[in-house]
Amino acid sequence: MTAVDDVWMTFDHGRITAIGTGTAPVELPEAPGGFLMPGMVDCHVHLAMSGGADMQLEVAGLDAAAAERAVMRHAEAQVRSGVTTVRDLGSPQDIAVAMSADLSRTGRCAPTVVAAGAITCPGGHGHFLARHAEGPDGYAKAVEAVAETGARIVKLFATGGVVTHGTVPGALQMNPVELDAATRAAHLLGMRVAAHAHGRDGIRNAVGVGVDSVEHFSHLGPDDIMAVKESMTWLVTTIVATERFVAAENRELATADALAKILEHAPLERTALRRAVDAGCRMAVGTDAGTTFNPHGWGMQEQAQHLRKAGMATHDVLRLLTVEGANLLDEPAGVLEVGRRADILCLTADPTQDLAKLSDMAGVVIRGHLVRTARTSPP
Ligand SMILES: [Zn+2]
Repeated sequence: MTAVDDVWMTFDHGRITAIGTGTAPVELPEAPGGFLMPGMVDCHVHLAMSGGADMQLEVAGLDAAAAERAVMRHAEAQVRSGVTTVRDLGSPQDIAVAMSADLSRTGRCAPTVVAAGAITCPGGHGHFLARHAEGPDGYAKAVEAVAETGARIVKLFATGGVVTHGTVPGALQMNPVELDAATRAAHLLGMRVAAHAHGRDGIRNAVGVGVDSVEHFSHLGPDDIMAVKESMTWLVTTIVATERFVAAENRELATADALAKILEHAPLERTALRRAVDAGCRMAVGTDAGTTFNPHGWGMQEQAQHLRKAGMATHDVLRLLTVEGANLLDEPAGVLEVGRRADILCLTADPTQDLAKLSDMAGVVIRGHLVRTARTSPP
């Protein structure tokens, strides 16, 4: 990552076509703000969900038209806070998968959306956002069904979770044979695999079968670090989701079950994140926006602060928010270079000096089109 002064760029069809310094070869409009960086890549969102007190209740009340409007609204909120690419990891009836191509068109005020179809066991964590499967053959068939929807990612739930009533974050939901069958089937079909895993057994199993990313990794232990580092698996931290839930003034409005789980969970997740940062594990960032008390927008800025607190250098935080996410998603984004998408944050101050400046935005260029943002800071 190098800072360059007096830069100009040209775009065509949403891609960067030339970059130089000094006088541009043609007359170009001036970018607002003065400091440019690649748009941010949020590797874990739920575009259909709003971040209310009870996710399950919200899904139950969403018809197709309301879900579609919610996806549009949340996609725009992401752009307006500087996120230009997202990976959606589960929506009711795969609505984010169905809408992803349209949202990612040039001219839309929406990030480029890489969407997953999710699979869980009957009654398991995320059952309201996922297909249901049991046994290795059942999972392999469900993966094929996901591929038919056009999804690029398969989301699996290796363990229970916080927001689904009755599931236990530390407990396994898939055995290693099921995880292996699903991951192989997905990779054969050219899809990447994101595995939700809080508990240690789930993390170990997911890394062992070669999933592409482990989401949350909340109970990652000191003995698991070597296996993670020797694998090709990315760890995706979503700690902002936990911190927002814990800090929410009205957190008592969540179900008693979810609140009890998040309070037990938060210190473990903080320790796991520090452990992963200290060890230099391969990481990317997600916000899990749409989950309990975790609305869309400005989560990446908060996530940057949490990564600093966990001991990561500013330079590395900025890499995680941009190019590392793009690499995990296999997207031509995250770097300002010819051939990549023209997704650019226009900031009014230098984020390499102070990560808080990530909130001081004058505009966002999304696939070559400028969206002016009136220097809004997070609420
Ligand atoms: Zn999630």
